[in-house]
Amino acid sequence: MRGIIWKARLLRDSAPGCCCSATDENWSMLSDSSQPSLPKAVLIVEDNELNLKLLNDILEYHGYTVFTTRLGEPALEIARQHRPDLILMDIQLPDISGMEAARRLKEDDQTRTIPIIAVTAFAMSGDEAQILASGCDAYVSKPFNLVEFLKLVERWTTNLT
Ligand code: MN
Repeated sequence: MRGIIWKARLLRDSAPGCCCSATDENWSMLSDSSQPSLPKAVLIVEDNELNLKLLNDILEYHGYTVFTTRLGEPALEIARQHRPDLILMDIQLPDISGMEAARRLKEDDQTRTIPIIAVTAFAMSGDEAQILASGCDAYVSKPFNLVEFLKLVERWTTNLT
């Protein structure tokens, strides 16, 4: 449904002389280069104050609505309540681990469809497979490349179905 509204806006906003037309063939390309009509919401789960602020500021600057928590348990409740488009999940948290939080989010019918990107300093081999097995959909190692990070966030928050 949201995709249909968005498409209507894109067609309306197309300037005369624009080289693109919103055909089905190039629809996905158009969506990548256009501002969404509704801000996408991202829940950041991160206990490190500086990392939390950094991620929050980057995403807010780029037009995302941001929810934050420093703990895993409250993340489950925020996810149920606000249904963010994406969750950025630190793995090492003070209460439950990010992997445990991901497992619980994917077990809950209300939150299982929300994509989760693990954001972690873990760099040892094997961790990535373990993190993905816990229910996370993608994985980013800190420190990360800002442009690549934003591309990843955009990709996972752009749901055209
Ligand atoms: Mn942490």
